[in-house]
This record gives sequence, structure tokens and C-alpha cells, in this order.
Amino acid sequence: MSTISVIEPATEEVMAEVSEAGAEDVDAAVSRAKAAFPAWRAMGPADRSKLLHALADALTDKHEELSVLEARNAGKPIANARGEIGMVAECFRYYAGGVERLTGKTIPVAGGVDMTFREPMGVIGMITPWNFPLVIASWKVAPALAAANTIVLKPAALTPLTAIELEKIALDAGLPEGVLNVVPGPGSVCGQRLVEHPDVAKIAFTGSTEVGAGIARGAAGTIKRVTLELGGKSANVVFADADIEQAARSAPFAVFDNSGQDCCARSRIMVERPALDDFLAALKETVEAMKVGDPLDETTVMGPLISAGHRETVASFVPDDAPVAIRGSAPGGRGYWFPPTVLSPVSNDDRAAREEIFGPVAAVIPFEGEDEAVRLANDTIYGLSGSIWTRDGAKALRMARAIDTGVLSINSNSSVRVSTPFGGFKQSGMGRELGPDAMEHYTEVKNVYYATEGS
Ligand code: NAD
Repeated sequence: MSTISVIEPATEEVMAEVSEAGAEDVDAAVSRAKAAFPAWRAMGPADRSKLLHALADALTDKHEELSVLEARNAGKPIANARGEIGMVAECFRYYAGGVERLTGKTIPVAGGVDMTFREPMGVIGMITPWNFPLVIASWKVAPALAAANTIVLKPAALTPLTAIELEKIALDAGLPEGVLNVVPGPGSVCGQRLVEHPDVAKIAFTGSTEVGAGIARGAAGTIKRVTLELGGKSANVVFADADIEQAARSAPFAVFDNSGQDCCARSRIMVERPALDDFLAALKETVEAMKVGDPLDETTVMGPLISAGHRETVASFVPDDAPVAIRGSAPGGRGYWFPPTVLSPVSNDDRAAREEIFGPVAAVIPFEGEDEAVRLANDTIYGLSGSIWTRDGAKALRMARAIDTGVLSINSNSSVRVSTPFGGFKQSGMGRELGPDAMEHYTEVKNVYYATEGS
């Protein structure tokens, strides 16, 4: 049997060997999920809710263990990993509460009663990336289970460890056999098999826009439902009337969090010209003070990149003649390190402003006035997140309405809350995760007419 050697990016050492699933393992997992579906669907909502609460409790009990595993495998600072694993448990708790609130409608019609039901879809295939391994899996698994589906989850081959733990924790918490199945393996084999499998009703995917487009094409063959959470190139728009100090102190974490390997990274920092010098001065101080290093050190704010190959890609955005305005520090020696880097000034037409770098490289783009801010913010194929910094409330709301993006913050760089919808416009995806909307994406609407006055 082949295995996946799981590498710790901070040390380049193998931290685990995992059995690698092949297409036949995916088929077997789909069969188990299909067999488990009727009983899971028939279970009373209160009992299903109780099991999801039990799973949330078990995840809370294992919080530190899972946080350390995620920090080591994905190379993320332990404080961030703790936040993510906390969100995983919160997500299961939120959807445990949603089980009994998934309702249909009654619709007034002539001659009878018309009602709708939200029915589970069956077996859901899930394909997840390496940057936020367990938290992104939980955004899919929790609502899909709450809506009474069964699951085959394919985590990224680089970071499969916490998803494998999730399957064990779920079984120990009482989830019936076959309801949640994890198949770690290569996307081109296991992911593709899931996409093509006739017994899989839907694919819920998070990853790059390029792979997402291939999944949408592949799913068309069996008319599978598809939701896609894809790439981004979000704008952090700072007007001169904003609290410049606060905007500049926060901006590095909106790009360099998770070493910039964040679909929500506000990697286009757009600054209104009159504020540019003050902004860059505060930005420089903050970036140069960032501690990059061992993910398990409590004081670390940025870890390594995920792999040597990815570091090469990121480096290609900082050629020798790049306008490097600020460069932070990074350890030498083993580990896939890359220093937080700010390019300034950058035109919105430059490669660094157009492509998703997915690393700690930010582009500062000067602008003049509201109209240009809207034009530049929207001049991208993506539309995932973004921020607007201004003390003028009406301008903030005008901007928020005008920017074509799924998730926006005003005077903040936060993107994600379990109770609010998350997802992208344009090539950043389709469908929404989190919040009440997500459960609807894991159900089909059924309409039933009951004739009360003859047929
Ligand atoms: P990726 O697209 O390379 O891989 C994502 C998943 O797809 C992995 O599990 C991979 O094995 C699988 N895969 C690869 N080829 C496949 C194929 N042919 N068929 C089926 N599955 C296949 O992405 P990545 O490098 O793991 O993650 C980074 C990307 O994910 C970035 O573009 C980032 O913006 C995006 N992302 C988006 C969100 C979001 O919510 N919008 C969140 C995190 C990451």
C-alpha cells in the first residue's frame, strides 16, 4: 500500500506516514456513505442534534492536541491554530442547533395544501485545501451532517492529519459508522473519482480557481450539485480620512496571517494618496516587528510556507527589480521560510496585483478619491473579501455596496464568523458557507401538493 509522507514545513522533517487512498478506496468510502444514509436520514432531528453536540464536546476536549497537530502540519502559529480549532467546535455546535430549525413552507394554492420540504441530498463529496485544513472541513461537514447527508471527505495530501483525527473523534462521539468517511489522497486520483462518482450527489470544494473550474466541468457529466470556494485578490481600501494608524497596524495581519496563504488575504492594499507616507511609515514599523519563526513558539505571529515548491512560486512575485518597500525578517536554515514583504508603489495592472500570490507579499496601490477606489477594487477576476477604512459612514456604505465581493468589513479586517454567510462573487466561487444559508446548500427543495377538495 502506498503512503503519504506528511512533512512539517518548519523543519522539513517527516512528521507522519499516512496510508494513501486510491480510486478504489474512494469507491469503498462512497459505498459505506451510501449504506449509512437511510438510517442517518431517518434519525429524529433531536437525536441527530445530540450527536453533533457530542462531537462538538469531543472536539473541545481535544482542543490542544488538535491545535498542536494543525500548527505543526500546516506551519501556522499555535495561537492561530487554537483559534481555528475553537472555531471547528463552535461550527459543530452552531449546526447542531440548526438541525431542528431546517424547515419548509406552506404555500396557498387552490383545491388543497402545498408544502415544501428540505430533503437531504445523499452522499456529499468534499474536497478541501491545505491552508486551513480542519476549519474549512468543518464548514462543510457540520452543515451537511445537520441536514442529514453522509460524507466522503478528501483532505489535501499535504495536511491530512486533523481530518483523519476528526473521523476517529466522530466515531468515538457516537456518529454511526459510514456517516463520515475520510480518504486522504491525491486530488488528481481521489478528488477526481469523487467528482465523477455516480453515487455522489454533490461536491463541496474549497481550493484554487483553476482546480475549481475543472471540478465544475467534471461534475457536469452527472449533473452534480457543486459549491465552490475559490481564490481571491482582495482590496484593503484605506481613505485619507480613516484612522490611518489603526488601518496600517492591522493591514499586515490581513495579508500575512497564515503566511499569506489565505483566500481572504487583503493583498492589494489601496491607500488614498494624501495618507500614503503616514500609512507606509506605520506599516513598516509593524511589519519589521513581526516575529516569524517556530509555529509552536507562543510569540510567533507568522510561520513558514507550506512547501519548497510553493516558496518558489511566491518568490517569483519578488524578482530582483521588484519595488520592495518593506521586508520583515525570517529565520534561515531548514524550513520553508519567506519574509513578510511589501511592494510599493504597485500598479493594479502589475502581476503582483492581479494574481493570487498566496504568500506573504502585499502590493500597495495608491489611488485618488472614491470613484477610482471602486474602479480599482473591482478590476480583478476575483471577489471574495475586502475592507474599507474611513470615518465617513455614508462613504463606507456607498463603497460597500459598490465593491463586487462576497464578504466586506468596514474599519476592520475580519472575514469569517460561524453565524454569517461566507463566499465569493465572480471567479472566487459559487454558493455560500456558514450561517443559515449553508444548510440550504446541502438540501434539495421538495414540493408536495395534497389535494383536499377532490383531485
Ligand atoms: P488546490 O486547488 O490545489 O487543491 C484543493 C483540493 O483539491 C486539494 O484537496 C487537492 O488535492 C484537490 N484537487 C487537486 N486537483 C484536483 C482534481 N483534478 N480533481 C479533484 N480534486 C483535486 O488548492 P490548494 O493549493 O490546496 O489551496 C489553495 C487555494 O485554495 C487558493 O487558491 C485559495 O485561495 C483557495 N482557498 C479558498 C478558500 C475559500 O473559502 N474561498 C479558502 C481556502 C483556500
